[in-house]
Amino acid sequence: MITRALLRSLRNDLPMPFMFRQLGDKAPYSKSVEGRFRFQCPHCGETQAVVNPRNNLAHCFYCGKNINNIDLLLAVGYEFVDAVGLLQRWLRLYDAERDGPDMVSRPATAIQPSDQGATLIGHILRQEFGNPRPRR
Ligand SMILES: [Zn+2]
Repeated sequence: MITRALLRSLRNDLPMPFMFRQLGDKAPYSKSVEGRFRFQCPHCGETQAVVNPRNNLAHCFYCGKNINNIDLLLAVGYEFVDAVGLLQRWLRLYDAERDGPDMVSRPATAIQPSDQGATLIGHILRQEFGNPRPRR
């Protein structure tokens, strides 16, 4: 199921440079300039689209358009559903690479307060381990 939360995650949590690496030959021309990831804008063709690392959104300084991960895949020819599927796969890959083989070492700061899964797990852990007295 495609939810708003999923789409937001696909836009925000998968860094654009990582997506470009996965796209390989299909990716628009890109380069890093002074630490900023810059690529050829799919709308105007100028290499003036620059990714803002804070929100993972690209802005083209030539035509003024904003471009997110999903926009970019659509622009290079993917159907929406395929783009979502691909980004989901790459996001899992990205998470696995970032976390490494030991998921336990993932820093607590990576877990957002709004992450319901994490809250649920925390709740279960508290139930399991938080109360040393056996229930009667
Ligand atoms: Zn442009």
